[in-house]
Amino acid sequence: MEDNLKNILINFKKTWRFVKEDKKYIILFLIFSLILCGISVITPLLSAKMLLYLTDGLFKELITVTIIVLIVEITRNLFNYLYNILFNKYSFKATSRIQVSIAKEAMKLEISELDNNSSGVFIDRINNDTKEIVSIFSDLGDGLIDVISNIGILIAIYFINKIMFAYFLLMLLIIFILEHIRMKKYFELDKKRRKLSEKNTGLVSELIRGTRDIKSLNIENNFLKKAESKLIESNNEKYKMQKVNAKYNLITGSVKDFSNLFLIFLGIYLCLNNYLSIANFVIVYMYKDRLLELLRYCSFLIELTKKFNVAATRVFEVIDDEKFKKEIFGNKVIDKINGDFEFRNVSFSYNEDKVVLKNISFKIHANEIVAFVGKSGSGKSTIFSLLNRLYLIDSGEILIDNVNINDLTKDSIRNNMSIITQNPYIFNFSIRDNLKLVKDDMTDEEMVEACKLACLHDFIMTLKDGYDTIVGEGGITLSGGQRQRLAIARALLKKTEIILFDEATSALDNETQKEIQKAINNMKGEYTILIIAHRLSTVIDSERIIVIDDGKVIAEGTHNELFENNEFYRNLYEKELV
Ligand code: ADP
Repeated sequence: MEDNLKNILINFKKTWRFVKEDKKYIILFLIFSLILCGISVITPLLSAKMLLYLTDGLFKELITVTIIVLIVEITRNLFNYLYNILFNKYSFKATSRIQVSIAKEAMKLEISELDNNSSGVFIDRINNDTKEIVSIFSDLGDGLIDVISNIGILIAIYFINKIMFAYFLLMLLIIFILEHIRMKKYFELDKKRRKLSEKNTGLVSELIRGTRDIKSLNIENNFLKKAESKLIESNNEKYKMQKVNAKYNLITGSVKDFSNLFLIFLGIYLCLNNYLSIANFVIVYMYKDRLLELLRYCSFLIELTKKFNVAATRVFEVIDDEKFKKEIFGNKVIDKINGDFEFRNVSFSYNEDKVVLKNISFKIHANEIVAFVGKSGSGKSTIFSLLNRLYLIDSGEILIDNVNINDLTKDSIRNNMSIITQNPYIFNFSIRDNLKLVKDDMTDEEMVEACKLACLHDFIMTLKDGYDTIVGEGGITLSGGQRQRLAIARALLKKTEIILFDEATSALDNETQKEIQKAINNMKGEYTILIIAHRLSTVIDSERIIVIDDGKVIAEGTHNELFENNEFYRNLYEKELV
Protein backbone atom coordinates (compact mmCIF):
# COMPACT_ATOMS: atom_id res chain seq x y z
CA MET A 1 0.00 0.00 0.00
CA GLU A 2 2.76 2.39 1.07
CA ASP A 3 4.74 1.34 -1.91
CA ASN A 4 1.74 2.03 -4.06
CA LEU A 5 1.32 5.50 -2.62
CA LYS A 6 5.00 6.22 -3.22
CA ASN A 7 4.57 5.00 -6.75
CA ILE A 8 1.56 7.24 -7.31
CA LEU A 9 3.47 10.26 -6.04
CA ILE A 10 6.44 9.47 -8.26
CA ASN A 11 4.17 9.06 -11.27
CA PHE A 12 2.34 12.24 -10.37
CA LYS A 13 5.62 14.13 -10.24
CA LYS A 14 6.68 12.70 -13.57
CA THR A 15 3.36 13.67 -15.16
CA TRP A 16 3.55 17.15 -13.68
CA ARG A 17 6.54 17.86 -15.97
CA PHE A 18 4.21 17.64 -18.94
CA VAL A 19 1.25 19.55 -17.54
CA LYS A 20 2.89 22.27 -15.49
CA GLU A 21 2.96 24.56 -18.50
CA ASP A 22 -0.83 24.58 -18.23
CA LYS A 23 -0.86 25.23 -14.49
CA LYS A 24 -3.25 28.12 -14.99
CA TYR A 25 -5.87 25.82 -16.51
CA ILE A 26 -5.59 23.40 -13.64
CA ILE A 27 -6.02 26.20 -11.10
CA LEU A 28 -9.05 27.41 -13.03
CA PHE A 29 -10.53 23.88 -13.01
CA LEU A 30 -10.17 23.76 -9.29
CA ILE A 31 -11.87 27.14 -8.88
CA PHE A 32 -14.68 26.14 -11.22
CA SER A 33 -15.03 22.77 -9.53
CA LEU A 34 -15.29 24.54 -6.17
CA ILE A 35 -18.05 26.79 -7.51
CA LEU A 36 -19.86 23.81 -9.05
CA CYS A 37 -19.49 21.91 -5.82
CA GLY A 38 -20.83 24.83 -3.77
CA ILE A 39 -23.82 24.98 -6.09
CA SER A 40 -24.45 21.27 -5.76
CA VAL A 41 -24.52 21.57 -1.95
CA ILE A 42 -27.04 24.44 -2.12
CA THR A 43 -29.43 22.81 -4.59
CA PRO A 44 -30.79 20.02 -2.31
CA LEU A 45 -31.18 22.56 0.51
CA LEU A 46 -33.27 24.77 -1.78
CA SER A 47 -35.29 21.77 -2.96
CA ALA A 48 -36.00 20.83 0.66
CA LYS A 49 -37.14 24.40 1.28
CA MET A 50 -39.40 24.29 -1.81
CA LEU A 51 -40.99 21.11 -0.52
CA LEU A 52 -41.61 22.66 2.90
CA TYR A 53 -43.14 25.84 1.39
CA LEU A 54 -45.30 23.71 -0.85
CA THR A 55 -46.63 21.56 1.99
CA ASP A 56 -47.17 24.69 4.14
CA GLY A 57 -48.95 26.47 1.26
CA LEU A 58 -46.45 29.39 1.22
CA PHE A 59 -46.71 30.05 -2.52
CA LYS A 60 -45.02 33.46 -2.58
CA GLU A 61 -41.93 32.06 -0.89
CA LEU A 62 -42.16 29.06 -3.19
CA ILE A 63 -41.92 31.29 -6.28
CA THR A 64 -38.95 33.19 -4.82
CA VAL A 65 -37.08 29.97 -4.10
CA THR A 66 -37.95 28.58 -7.56
CA ILE A 67 -36.44 31.69 -9.18
CA ILE A 68 -33.31 31.32 -7.02
CA VAL A 69 -33.08 27.67 -8.09
CA LEU A 70 -33.33 28.79 -11.74
CA ILE A 71 -30.51 31.32 -11.31
CA VAL A 72 -28.37 28.75 -9.50
CA GLU A 73 -28.97 26.19 -12.27
CA ILE A 74 -28.11 28.68 -15.03
CA THR A 75 -24.91 29.57 -13.18
CA ARG A 76 -24.09 25.89 -12.81
CA ASN A 77 -24.60 25.24 -16.54
CA LEU A 78 -22.44 28.21 -17.45
CA PHE A 79 -19.56 27.06 -15.24
CA ASN A 80 -19.98 23.53 -16.51
CA TYR A 81 -19.60 24.82 -20.06
CA LEU A 82 -16.47 26.85 -19.22
CA TYR A 83 -15.08 23.92 -17.30
CA ASN A 84 -15.48 21.56 -20.26
CA ILE A 85 -13.93 24.00 -22.72
CA LEU A 86 -10.93 24.48 -20.45
CA PHE A 87 -10.52 20.79 -19.84
CA ASN A 88 -10.51 19.95 -23.52
CA LYS A 89 -7.98 22.63 -24.29
CA TYR A 90 -5.63 21.57 -21.54
CA SER A 91 -5.98 17.84 -22.10
CA PHE A 92 -5.31 18.05 -25.81
CA LYS A 93 -2.13 20.03 -25.21
CA ALA A 94 -0.82 17.85 -22.39
CA THR A 95 -1.72 14.59 -24.18
CA SER A 96 0.14 15.71 -27.29
CA ARG A 97 3.19 16.64 -25.24
CA ILE A 98 3.32 13.22 -23.60
CA GLN A 99 2.65 11.41 -26.87
CA VAL A 100 5.48 13.24 -28.60
CA SER A 101 7.73 12.43 -25.69
CA ILE A 102 6.95 8.69 -25.83
CA ALA A 103 7.42 8.67 -29.59
CA LYS A 104 10.79 10.38 -29.09
CA GLU A 105 11.85 7.86 -26.46
CA ALA A 106 10.57 4.95 -28.53
CA MET A 107 13.01 6.04 -31.24
CA LYS A 108 15.84 5.64 -28.74
CA LEU A 109 15.00 2.03 -27.92
CA GLU A 110 17.49 -0.67 -28.71
CA ILE A 111 16.26 -2.49 -31.82
CA SER A 112 16.35 -5.71 -29.78
CA GLU A 113 13.47 -4.30 -27.67
CA LEU A 114 11.42 -3.85 -30.83
CA ASP A 115 12.37 -7.37 -31.94
CA ASN A 116 11.22 -8.84 -28.66
CA ASN A 117 8.03 -6.85 -28.04
CA SER A 118 4.83 -6.57 -30.00
CA SER A 119 4.40 -3.16 -31.64
CA GLY A 120 1.14 -2.95 -29.66
CA VAL A 121 3.20 -2.46 -26.49
CA PHE A 122 4.22 0.95 -27.76
CA ILE A 123 1.15 1.85 -29.84
CA ASP A 124 -1.23 1.25 -26.91
CA ARG A 125 0.89 3.34 -24.59
CA ILE A 126 1.04 6.22 -27.04
CA ASN A 127 -2.65 6.05 -27.96
CA ASN A 128 -4.49 5.07 -24.79
CA ASP A 129 -2.44 5.34 -21.62
CA THR A 130 -1.41 8.93 -22.26
CA LYS A 131 -5.04 10.08 -22.34
CA GLU A 132 -5.77 8.30 -19.08
CA ILE A 133 -2.93 9.95 -17.25
CA VAL A 134 -3.82 13.41 -18.45
CA SER A 135 -7.44 13.14 -17.33
CA ILE A 136 -6.32 12.60 -13.73
CA PHE A 137 -5.73 16.32 -13.28
CA SER A 138 -9.31 17.25 -13.92
CA ASP A 139 -11.06 14.11 -12.66
CA LEU A 140 -9.11 14.24 -9.44
CA GLY A 141 -10.21 17.84 -8.91
CA ASP A 142 -13.81 16.85 -9.62
CA GLY A 143 -13.78 13.83 -7.36
CA LEU A 144 -11.91 15.48 -4.51
CA ILE A 145 -14.35 18.35 -4.36
CA ASP A 146 -17.32 15.97 -4.47
CA VAL A 147 -15.83 14.08 -1.55
CA ILE A 148 -15.11 17.24 0.42
CA SER A 149 -18.58 18.67 -0.15
CA ASN A 150 -20.20 15.43 0.88
CA ILE A 151 -18.08 15.18 3.98
CA GLY A 152 -19.47 18.65 4.72
CA ILE A 153 -22.96 17.19 4.47
CA LEU A 154 -22.01 14.34 6.79
CA ILE A 155 -20.79 16.85 9.38
CA ALA A 156 -24.05 18.77 9.00
CA ILE A 157 -25.99 15.56 9.70
CA TYR A 158 -23.87 15.04 12.82
CA PHE A 159 -25.16 18.35 14.14
CA ILE A 160 -28.73 17.64 13.03
CA ASN A 161 -28.98 14.21 14.62
CA LYS A 162 -26.31 11.90 16.08
CA ILE A 163 -28.34 8.70 15.59
CA MET A 164 -28.87 9.52 11.91
CA PHE A 165 -25.16 10.26 11.68
CA ALA A 166 -24.25 6.88 13.21
CA TYR A 167 -26.67 5.16 10.84
CA PHE A 168 -25.03 6.78 7.80
CA LEU A 169 -21.58 5.87 9.06
CA LEU A 170 -22.60 2.24 9.34
CA MET A 171 -24.02 2.24 5.82
CA LEU A 172 -20.89 3.89 4.48
CA LEU A 173 -18.75 1.22 6.10
CA ILE A 174 -20.76 -1.56 4.44
CA ILE A 175 -20.53 0.12 1.04
CA PHE A 176 -16.82 0.76 1.56
CA ILE A 177 -16.16 -2.95 2.11
CA LEU A 178 -18.16 -3.86 -1.00
CA GLU A 179 -16.35 -1.25 -3.11
CA HIS A 180 -12.99 -2.45 -1.88
CA ILE A 181 -13.72 -6.01 -3.02
CA ARG A 182 -15.06 -4.78 -6.36
CA MET A 183 -11.99 -2.72 -7.11
CA LYS A 184 -9.56 -5.48 -6.25
CA LYS A 185 -11.28 -7.83 -8.69
CA TYR A 186 -11.65 -5.10 -11.31
CA PHE A 187 -7.96 -4.18 -11.36
CA GLU A 188 -6.75 -7.76 -11.48
CA LEU A 189 -8.78 -8.16 -14.67
CA ASP A 190 -7.70 -4.76 -15.98
CA LYS A 191 -4.03 -5.72 -15.77
CA LYS A 192 -4.67 -8.83 -17.83
CA ARG A 193 -6.81 -6.89 -20.28
CA ARG A 194 -4.09 -4.32 -20.97
CA LYS A 195 -1.54 -7.04 -21.76
CA LEU A 196 -3.99 -8.72 -24.13
CA SER A 197 -4.89 -5.38 -25.68
CA GLU A 198 -1.22 -4.71 -26.51
CA LYS A 199 -1.00 -8.03 -28.29
CA ASN A 200 -4.24 -7.28 -30.13
CA THR A 201 -3.07 -3.87 -31.29
CA GLY A 202 0.08 -5.54 -32.63
CA LEU A 203 -2.01 -8.18 -34.34
CA VAL A 204 -4.36 -5.65 -35.91
CA SER A 205 -1.43 -3.61 -37.17
CA GLU A 206 0.06 -6.81 -38.67
CA LEU A 207 -3.29 -7.68 -40.18
CA ILE A 208 -3.40 -4.38 -42.03
CA ARG A 209 0.26 -4.37 -43.02
CA GLY A 210 0.19 -8.02 -44.02
CA THR A 211 -3.05 -7.85 -46.01
CA ARG A 212 -1.27 -8.31 -49.33
CA ASP A 213 0.40 -11.52 -48.23
CA ILE A 214 -2.75 -12.67 -46.47
CA LYS A 215 -4.67 -12.20 -49.73
CA SER A 216 -2.12 -13.75 -52.03
CA LEU A 217 -1.65 -16.73 -49.72
CA ASN A 218 -5.46 -16.91 -49.58
CA ILE A 219 -5.34 -17.34 -45.81
CA GLU A 220 -7.97 -14.77 -44.86
CA ASN A 221 -10.06 -17.33 -43.05
CA ASN A 222 -7.20 -18.82 -41.07
CA PHE A 223 -5.81 -15.42 -40.16
CA LEU A 224 -9.21 -14.04 -39.23
CA LYS A 225 -9.86 -17.09 -37.08
CA LYS A 226 -6.65 -16.38 -35.20
CA ALA A 227 -7.39 -12.65 -34.97
CA GLU A 228 -10.96 -13.30 -33.92
CA SER A 229 -10.00 -15.63 -31.11
CA LYS A 230 -7.50 -13.06 -29.80
CA LEU A 231 -10.04 -10.24 -30.04
CA ILE A 232 -12.66 -12.35 -28.30
CA GLU A 233 -10.14 -13.17 -25.56
CA SER A 234 -9.39 -9.53 -24.84
CA ASN A 235 -13.00 -8.37 -25.15
CA ASN A 236 -13.94 -11.19 -22.82
CA GLU A 237 -11.65 -9.64 -20.24
CA LYS A 238 -13.49 -6.34 -20.69
CA TYR A 239 -16.79 -8.18 -20.35
CA LYS A 240 -15.58 -9.80 -17.14
CA MET A 241 -14.66 -6.35 -15.79
CA GLN A 242 -18.12 -5.04 -16.63
CA LYS A 243 -19.61 -8.14 -15.04
CA VAL A 244 -17.76 -7.42 -11.82
CA ASN A 245 -19.05 -3.84 -11.91
CA ALA A 246 -22.60 -4.92 -12.72
CA LYS A 247 -22.60 -7.49 -9.92
CA TYR A 248 -21.36 -5.03 -7.33
CA ASN A 249 -23.67 -2.30 -8.60
CA LEU A 250 -26.53 -4.68 -7.97
CA ILE A 251 -25.29 -5.50 -4.47
CA THR A 252 -24.51 -1.91 -3.42
CA GLY A 253 -27.72 -0.74 -5.11
CA SER A 254 -29.73 -3.22 -3.06
CA VAL A 255 -27.89 -2.24 0.13
CA LYS A 256 -28.80 1.37 -0.63
CA ASP A 257 -32.44 0.50 -1.33
CA PHE A 258 -32.72 -1.30 1.97
CA SER A 259 -30.89 1.49 3.73
CA ASN A 260 -33.55 3.89 2.38
CA LEU A 261 -36.28 1.75 3.87
CA PHE A 262 -34.53 1.59 7.23
CA LEU A 263 -33.89 5.32 7.04
CA ILE A 264 -37.63 5.96 6.74
CA PHE A 265 -38.35 3.65 9.68
CA LEU A 266 -35.59 5.26 11.70
CA GLY A 267 -36.80 8.77 10.75
CA ILE A 268 -40.40 7.99 11.70
CA TYR A 269 -39.24 6.50 14.97
CA LEU A 270 -37.07 9.53 15.75
CA CYS A 271 -39.84 12.00 14.76
CA LEU A 272 -42.49 10.20 16.78
CA ASN A 273 -40.22 10.28 19.81
CA ASN A 274 -39.32 13.93 19.26
CA TYR A 275 -35.64 13.25 18.59
CA LEU A 276 -35.93 14.80 15.12
CA SER A 277 -38.11 17.54 13.61
CA ILE A 278 -39.99 16.91 10.36
CA ALA A 279 -38.06 19.74 8.65
CA ASN A 280 -34.72 18.16 9.60
CA PHE A 281 -35.97 14.76 8.54
CA VAL A 282 -36.79 16.24 5.10
CA ILE A 283 -33.29 17.73 4.86
CA VAL A 284 -31.64 14.46 5.90
CA TYR A 285 -33.84 12.63 3.40
CA MET A 286 -32.89 15.04 0.59
CA TYR A 287 -29.22 14.43 1.32
CA LYS A 288 -29.36 10.69 1.81
CA ASP A 289 -28.42 9.78 -1.78
CA ARG A 290 -25.56 12.23 -1.80
CA LEU A 291 -24.25 10.77 1.43
CA LEU A 292 -24.41 7.23 0.23
CA GLU A 293 -22.74 8.41 -2.95
CA LEU A 294 -19.87 9.69 -0.83
CA LEU A 295 -18.22 6.34 -0.86
CA ARG A 296 -18.81 6.00 -4.55
CA TYR A 297 -16.86 9.23 -4.95
CA CYS A 298 -14.16 7.93 -2.62
CA SER A 299 -13.87 4.71 -4.55
CA PHE A 300 -14.02 6.68 -7.79
CA LEU A 301 -11.02 8.63 -6.52
CA ILE A 302 -9.19 5.47 -5.56
CA GLU A 303 -10.08 3.87 -8.88
CA LEU A 304 -8.92 6.97 -10.68
CA THR A 305 -5.57 7.07 -8.94
CA LYS A 306 -5.14 3.35 -9.50
CA LYS A 307 -5.94 3.73 -13.19
CA PHE A 308 -3.62 6.71 -13.36
CA ASN A 309 -0.89 4.71 -11.67
CA VAL A 310 -1.21 1.78 -14.05
CA ALA A 311 -1.29 4.03 -17.14
CA ALA A 312 1.50 6.33 -15.91
CA THR A 313 3.73 3.40 -14.98
CA ARG A 314 3.27 2.03 -18.50
CA VAL A 315 3.99 5.38 -20.12
CA PHE A 316 7.02 6.18 -17.97
CA GLU A 317 8.39 2.69 -18.50
CA VAL A 318 9.02 3.90 -22.03
CA ILE A 319 9.93 7.51 -21.24
CA ASP A 320 12.07 7.29 -18.11
CA ASP A 321 12.64 3.79 -16.85
CA GLU A 322 15.04 1.03 -17.63
CA LYS A 323 12.45 -1.61 -18.40
CA PHE A 324 13.10 -1.11 -22.10
CA LYS A 325 16.74 -0.74 -22.96
CA LYS A 326 17.67 2.49 -24.69
CA GLU A 327 20.64 2.94 -26.96
CA ILE A 328 23.74 4.26 -25.25
CA PHE A 329 26.46 5.88 -27.28
CA GLY A 330 29.95 7.16 -26.50
CA ASN A 331 30.99 10.79 -26.68
CA LYS A 332 33.82 10.70 -29.18
CA VAL A 333 32.96 12.79 -32.20
CA ILE A 334 34.25 12.14 -35.71
CA ASP A 335 32.60 14.52 -38.15
CA LYS A 336 33.83 12.93 -41.32
CA ILE A 337 34.75 9.29 -41.09
CA ASN A 338 37.44 8.00 -43.47
CA GLY A 339 35.86 4.61 -43.86
CA ASP A 340 38.31 2.15 -42.28
CA PHE A 341 36.59 -0.68 -40.44
CA GLU A 342 37.73 -3.56 -38.39
CA PHE A 343 35.86 -6.43 -36.78
CA ARG A 344 38.18 -7.88 -34.12
CA ASN A 345 37.12 -11.27 -32.71
CA VAL A 346 33.47 -10.21 -32.70
CA SER A 347 30.86 -12.61 -31.34
CA PHE A 348 27.18 -11.79 -31.37
CA SER A 349 23.84 -13.44 -30.72
CA TYR A 350 20.34 -11.96 -30.98
CA ASN A 351 19.21 -14.18 -28.15
CA GLU A 352 20.51 -17.03 -26.04
CA ASP A 353 19.32 -19.64 -28.52
CA LYS A 354 21.99 -19.19 -31.13
CA VAL A 355 25.36 -17.53 -31.62
CA VAL A 356 25.12 -15.76 -34.99
CA LEU A 357 28.65 -14.35 -35.39
CA LYS A 358 31.46 -16.48 -34.03
CA ASN A 359 34.68 -14.72 -33.21
CA ILE A 360 34.73 -13.00 -36.56
CA SER A 361 37.63 -10.75 -37.70
CA PHE A 362 38.20 -8.75 -40.90
CA LYS A 363 39.39 -5.32 -42.04
CA ILE A 364 37.99 -2.93 -44.62
CA HIS A 365 40.00 -0.01 -45.94
CA ALA A 366 38.62 3.41 -46.82
CA ASN A 367 37.13 3.70 -50.32
CA GLU A 368 37.28 -0.03 -50.89
CA ILE A 369 34.42 -1.94 -52.45
CA VAL A 370 34.01 -5.20 -50.63
CA ALA A 371 31.41 -7.87 -51.24
CA PHE A 372 30.19 -10.27 -48.60
CA VAL A 373 29.01 -13.59 -49.90
CA GLY A 374 27.67 -16.66 -48.16
CA LYS A 375 24.60 -18.77 -47.75
CA SER A 376 21.40 -17.22 -46.56
CA GLY A 377 21.33 -16.99 -42.77
CA SER A 378 25.14 -17.06 -42.44
CA GLY A 379 25.22 -13.63 -40.73
CA LYS A 380 25.92 -11.09 -43.51
CA SER A 381 23.07 -8.66 -42.75
CA THR A 382 23.90 -8.96 -39.08
CA ILE A 383 27.39 -7.57 -39.82
CA PHE A 384 25.74 -4.50 -41.38
CA SER A 385 23.41 -4.02 -38.41
CA LEU A 386 26.38 -4.18 -36.05
CA LEU A 387 28.35 -1.67 -38.10
CA ASN A 388 25.38 0.69 -37.80
CA ARG A 389 25.36 0.00 -34.02
CA LEU A 390 21.79 -1.29 -34.17
CA TYR A 391 22.77 -4.06 -31.74
CA LEU A 392 25.46 -4.41 -29.09
CA ILE A 393 28.03 -7.15 -29.58
CA ASP A 394 28.68 -9.85 -26.96
CA SER A 395 32.47 -9.78 -27.18
CA GLY A 396 35.32 -8.46 -29.31
CA GLU A 397 35.59 -5.00 -30.85
CA ILE A 398 34.27 -3.12 -33.84
CA LEU A 399 36.57 -0.27 -34.85
CA ILE A 400 35.64 2.60 -37.13
CA ASP A 401 38.66 4.70 -38.14
CA ASN A 402 40.47 2.88 -35.31
CA VAL A 403 37.95 4.01 -32.67
CA ASN A 404 35.79 1.52 -30.81
CA ILE A 405 32.22 1.92 -32.08
CA ASN A 406 30.94 2.04 -28.50
CA ASP A 407 32.98 5.21 -27.87
CA LEU A 408 31.50 7.10 -30.82
CA THR A 409 28.49 9.39 -30.70
CA LYS A 410 25.30 8.41 -32.52
CA ASP A 411 25.85 11.11 -35.14
CA SER A 412 29.43 10.03 -35.78
CA ILE A 413 28.23 6.54 -36.65
CA ARG A 414 24.91 7.12 -38.36
CA ASN A 415 25.58 10.41 -40.13
CA ASN A 416 28.55 8.78 -41.80
CA MET A 417 26.85 5.61 -42.94
CA SER A 418 23.88 4.66 -45.08
CA ILE A 419 22.37 1.21 -45.13
CA ILE A 420 20.39 0.28 -48.19
CA THR A 421 18.51 -2.80 -47.09
CA GLN A 422 16.92 -5.39 -49.36
CA ASN A 423 13.54 -3.89 -48.68
CA PRO A 424 14.10 -0.30 -47.57
CA TYR A 425 11.29 1.49 -45.76
CA ILE A 426 9.92 4.39 -47.75
CA PHE A 427 7.46 6.64 -45.91
CA ASN A 428 3.98 7.55 -47.05
CA PHE A 429 5.08 11.02 -48.16
CA SER A 430 5.92 12.40 -51.57
CA ILE A 431 9.23 11.34 -53.15
CA ARG A 432 10.50 14.85 -52.48
CA ASP A 433 9.57 14.71 -48.79
CA ASN A 434 11.09 11.25 -48.41
CA LEU A 435 14.36 12.67 -49.70
CA LYS A 436 14.02 15.81 -47.60
CA LEU A 437 14.00 13.64 -44.49
CA VAL A 438 17.72 13.04 -44.90
CA LYS A 439 18.58 16.57 -46.02
CA ASP A 440 16.16 19.21 -44.86
CA ASP A 441 17.79 21.99 -46.86
CA MET A 442 18.27 20.09 -50.13
CA THR A 443 17.86 22.10 -53.31
CA ASP A 444 15.93 20.83 -56.32
CA GLU A 445 19.23 20.50 -58.20
CA GLU A 446 20.70 18.27 -55.46
CA MET A 447 17.55 16.16 -55.41
CA VAL A 448 17.54 15.66 -59.17
CA GLU A 449 21.26 14.93 -59.24
CA ALA A 450 20.94 12.24 -56.54
CA CYS A 451 18.01 10.66 -58.36
CA LYS A 452 19.88 10.74 -61.66
CA LEU A 453 22.88 9.01 -60.08
CA ALA A 454 20.51 6.49 -58.50
CA CYS A 455 18.98 5.93 -61.99
CA LEU A 456 15.55 6.93 -60.72
CA HIS A 457 15.03 10.36 -62.27
CA ASP A 458 13.68 9.11 -65.60
CA PHE A 459 11.11 6.97 -63.82
CA ILE A 460 10.02 9.85 -61.56
CA MET A 461 9.52 12.01 -64.66
CA THR A 462 6.98 9.50 -65.98
CA LEU A 463 4.80 10.02 -62.87
CA LYS A 464 1.95 12.49 -63.14
CA ASP A 465 3.05 14.45 -60.07
CA GLY A 466 6.76 13.81 -60.56
CA TYR A 467 8.73 14.36 -57.37
CA ASP A 468 5.52 15.25 -55.55
CA THR A 469 4.01 11.80 -56.05
CA ILE A 470 2.88 10.21 -52.78
CA VAL A 471 4.27 6.69 -52.60
CA GLY A 472 1.93 4.94 -50.13
CA GLU A 473 2.76 3.31 -46.79
CA GLY A 474 6.14 1.63 -46.96
CA GLY A 475 6.48 2.94 -50.52
CA ILE A 476 3.97 0.34 -51.65
CA THR A 477 3.28 2.01 -55.01
CA LEU A 478 6.94 1.59 -55.99
CA SER A 479 8.55 -1.61 -57.21
CA GLY A 480 11.27 -3.32 -55.14
CA GLY A 481 13.94 -2.00 -57.50
CA GLN A 482 12.51 1.54 -57.40
CA ARG A 483 12.44 1.46 -53.60
CA GLN A 484 16.06 0.40 -53.51
CA ARG A 485 17.03 3.12 -55.96
CA LEU A 486 15.14 5.70 -53.88
CA ALA A 487 17.11 4.44 -50.88
CA ILE A 488 20.32 4.86 -52.91
CA ALA A 489 19.25 8.44 -53.72
CA ARG A 490 18.68 9.01 -49.99
CA ALA A 491 22.19 7.72 -49.29
CA LEU A 492 23.68 9.92 -52.00
CA LEU A 493 21.92 12.98 -50.64
CA LYS A 494 23.12 12.17 -47.16
CA LYS A 495 26.62 12.11 -48.70
CA THR A 496 27.82 9.51 -46.24
CA GLU A 497 31.32 8.21 -46.64
CA ILE A 498 30.20 4.65 -46.10
CA ILE A 499 27.46 2.82 -47.95
CA LEU A 500 26.27 -0.57 -46.85
CA PHE A 501 24.25 -2.15 -49.62
CA ASP A 502 22.23 -5.30 -49.14
CA GLU A 503 21.47 -6.38 -52.67
CA ALA A 504 17.90 -7.57 -53.16
CA THR A 505 17.63 -11.34 -53.36
CA SER A 506 14.34 -11.08 -55.15
CA ALA A 507 14.83 -11.55 -58.85
CA LEU A 508 14.92 -8.05 -60.28
CA ASP A 509 14.51 -7.85 -64.01
CA ASN A 510 17.71 -7.40 -65.97
CA GLU A 511 17.00 -3.77 -66.71
CA THR A 512 16.44 -2.87 -63.05
CA GLN A 513 19.45 -4.89 -62.00
CA LYS A 514 21.58 -3.03 -64.52
CA GLU A 515 20.26 0.32 -63.29
CA ILE A 516 21.05 -0.52 -59.68
CA GLN A 517 24.49 -1.74 -60.72
CA LYS A 518 24.98 1.49 -62.61
CA ALA A 519 23.88 3.44 -59.53
CA ILE A 520 26.49 1.61 -57.44
CA ASN A 521 29.16 2.15 -60.10
CA ASN A 522 28.34 5.85 -59.97
CA MET A 523 29.40 5.82 -56.32
CA LYS A 524 32.70 3.97 -56.78
CA GLY A 525 35.98 5.54 -55.70
CA GLU A 526 34.54 8.20 -53.42
CA TYR A 527 32.87 5.90 -50.95
CA THR A 528 33.62 2.86 -48.88
CA ILE A 529 31.04 0.43 -50.19
CA LEU A 530 30.19 -2.87 -48.59
CA ILE A 531 27.81 -5.04 -50.55
CA ILE A 532 26.00 -8.17 -49.56
CA ALA A 533 26.09 -9.76 -52.97
CA HIS A 534 23.63 -12.17 -54.43
CA ARG A 535 24.68 -11.69 -58.01
CA LEU A 536 27.73 -12.56 -60.08
CA SER A 537 28.10 -9.14 -61.64
CA THR A 538 28.48 -7.43 -58.25
CA VAL A 539 31.01 -9.98 -57.04
CA ILE A 540 33.21 -9.93 -60.08
CA ASP A 541 33.46 -6.13 -59.98
CA SER A 542 34.33 -6.04 -56.26
CA GLU A 543 37.89 -5.33 -55.20
CA ARG A 544 37.66 -7.92 -52.46
CA ILE A 545 35.25 -10.64 -51.47
CA ILE A 546 34.77 -11.92 -47.92
CA VAL A 547 33.18 -15.34 -47.71
CA ILE A 548 31.00 -15.89 -44.63
CA ASP A 549 29.75 -19.26 -43.49
CA ASP A 550 27.91 -20.00 -40.28
CA GLY A 551 28.97 -16.73 -38.64
CA LYS A 552 32.66 -17.08 -39.54
CA VAL A 553 34.96 -15.67 -42.22
CA ILE A 554 36.13 -18.71 -44.13
CA ALA A 555 38.01 -17.01 -46.97
CA GLU A 556 38.77 -13.68 -48.59
CA GLY A 557 40.31 -12.47 -51.83
CA THR A 558 39.42 -11.41 -55.34
CA HIS A 559 36.95 -13.36 -57.41
CA ASN A 560 39.69 -15.06 -59.43
CA GLU A 561 41.73 -16.01 -56.36
CA LEU A 562 38.72 -17.45 -54.58
CA PHE A 563 37.38 -19.20 -57.64
CA GLU A 564 40.66 -21.00 -58.09
CA ASN A 565 41.49 -21.78 -54.48
CA ASN A 566 38.23 -22.07 -52.54
CA GLU A 567 35.83 -24.89 -53.15
CA PHE A 568 33.07 -23.41 -50.96
CA TYR A 569 33.16 -20.18 -52.97
CA ARG A 570 33.26 -22.04 -56.26
CA ASN A 571 30.17 -24.02 -55.28
CA LEU A 572 28.41 -20.88 -54.12
CA TYR A 573 29.31 -19.05 -57.28
CA GLU A 574 28.14 -21.90 -59.46
CA LYS A 575 24.81 -21.86 -57.62
CA GLU A 576 24.56 -18.09 -58.21
CA LEU A 577 25.77 -17.24 -54.70
CA VAL A 578 22.55 -17.42 -52.76
P1 ADP B 1 22.19 -13.35 -43.95
O1 ADP B 1 22.19 -11.87 -44.13
O2 ADP B 1 23.53 -13.95 -44.15
O3 ADP B 1 21.15 -14.03 -44.75
P2 ADP B 1 21.35 -12.70 -41.26
O4 ADP B 1 22.48 -11.91 -40.72
O5 ADP B 1 20.15 -11.99 -41.70
O6 ADP B 1 21.87 -13.67 -42.41
O7 ADP B 1 20.88 -13.75 -40.14
C1 ADP B 1 21.81 -14.56 -39.41
C2 ADP B 1 21.02 -15.38 -38.39
O8 ADP B 1 20.47 -14.52 -37.41
C3 ADP B 1 19.88 -16.17 -38.97
O9 ADP B 1 19.89 -17.43 -38.37
C4 ADP B 1 18.64 -15.40 -38.57
O10 ADP B 1 17.59 -16.28 -38.31
C5 ADP B 1 19.08 -14.74 -37.28
N1 ADP B 1 18.44 -13.42 -37.11
C6 ADP B 1 18.47 -12.40 -37.98
N2 ADP B 1 17.83 -11.31 -37.48
C7 ADP B 1 17.37 -11.68 -36.27
C8 ADP B 1 16.63 -11.00 -35.24
N3 ADP B 1 16.25 -9.73 -35.37
N4 ADP B 1 16.34 -11.68 -34.12
C9 ADP B 1 16.74 -12.96 -33.96
N5 ADP B 1 17.44 -13.64 -34.88
C10 ADP B 1 17.76 -13.02 -36.03
